[in-house]
Amino acid sequence: MDKFVVVIAESEHGELTQASLECVEEGREVADQLGAQVHTILCGNEVTPLAATLAAHGADRVTVVEHEALAQFSADGWLQALAPVLLDAHPTLLLAPDSGQIRAWLPRLSVRWRLPLVGCCMRIGIIGDGYPEIIRHTYGGACQERLIWPYATLVCAMLTPGVRGVGAPQRGRSAEVTVVRPELDPASFRDRTLRTLPADPRTVSLSEAERIVSGGFGAGGPDGMALVKRLAEQIGAALGGTRVAADRGWLAVERFIGSTGQIVAPKLYMAFGVSGAGQHLSGITGSEQVVAVNSDRTAPILKRADLGVVGDLHQILPILIRKLTEITP
Ligand SMILES: Cc1cc2nc3c(=O)[nH]c(=O)nc-3n(C[C@H](O)[C@H](O)[C@H](O)COP(=O)(O)OP(=O)(O)OC[C@H]3O[C@@H](n4cnc5c(N)ncnc54)[C@H](O)[C@@H]3O)c2cc1C
Repeated sequence: MDKFVVVIAESEHGELTQASLECVEEGREVADQLGAQVHTILCGNEVTPLAATLAAHGADRVTVVEHEALAQFSADGWLQALAPVLLDAHPTLLLAPDSGQIRAWLPRLSVRWRLPLVGCCMRIGIIGDGYPEIIRHTYGGACQERLIWPYATLVCAMLTPGVRGVGAPQRGRSAEVTVVRPELDPASFRDRTLRTLPADPRTVSLSEAERIVSGGFGAGGPDGMALVKRLAEQIGAALGGTRVAADRGWLAVERFIGSTGQIVAPKLYMAFGVSGAGQHLSGITGSEQVVAVNSDRTAPILKRADLGVVGDLHQILPILIRKLTEITP
């Protein structure tokens, strides 16, 4: 019998979330170890065109569950729509993003079906004769836990967004696509989302941010951090930083990045006065482009940077902000 790693994908404003693509790629690696296929399930309204992207990131099969009532998220709606599809899919392992929406319905299904559910997952592997092995972070990232299910039980694993980053799509890869149109009764949904607003880059969760500007101890104090923040606002980026900056009170504690803070995977990561300690760098491994400004040419961040500038951030930032103001309409 064929084995399936089943991945739940999510879309937002007509696009797949980065966290979903990370799950598909993680599912691909696990499926390759198991000799299994990746079966991705996507729920929504008019989301079928996104199946090609899921295939390009590793899905062998895509089931799209389409219904007008699924245009906006409802935990009751998702449960009604997805439970029968998941039952038919016979997963060997179930993988989903550790997102607010998944947390609203998957735990209910796992209780109903008496399945182990694991959140905050960082890595999923297979050991022995096909036993799932999960590494997850606990105590706010201070510890890591290794979990093994020796009887190859079906496990539902929720992968922390940003923890692995998204690789390049493989052109020419295709998947078998099935569209399911379930009969749903929206009147029976006890919860409804009226509308969702695009994220404000200043307050967006760092794990979802496409651009991040970070400040470290080298910012020298709240005034230096204010300069870093001005640049972030100017380029529509989220503000982040190091644990030291947060410990000093220059940055909100939920905005520091690293092994004990936020794990991020932006397209652009800019670091000002950040040395690049291992604990910080382990939080930015998924970043596509890293730009670093540091006065010390031996700072480790400059080895990680795609563009490294050796200089004083207090001189460079005002010039950068002024030049951007000149070219921004
Ligand atoms: C258990 C544990 C967990 C940790 N977890 C995390 C974590 O999750 N995230 C995290 O960030 N840290 C974490 N840390 C702390 C980490 O080890 C480093 O101490 C921290 O990342 C350093 O922060 P920093 O780069 O801001 O400061 P520093 O290491 O002091 O670096 C400041 C940098 O600024 C440069 N600089 C100074 N002045 C200027 C200037 N005018 N212009 C330009 N550059 C300048 C300096 O050359 C230097 O490279 C953890 C530590 C421990 C022990």
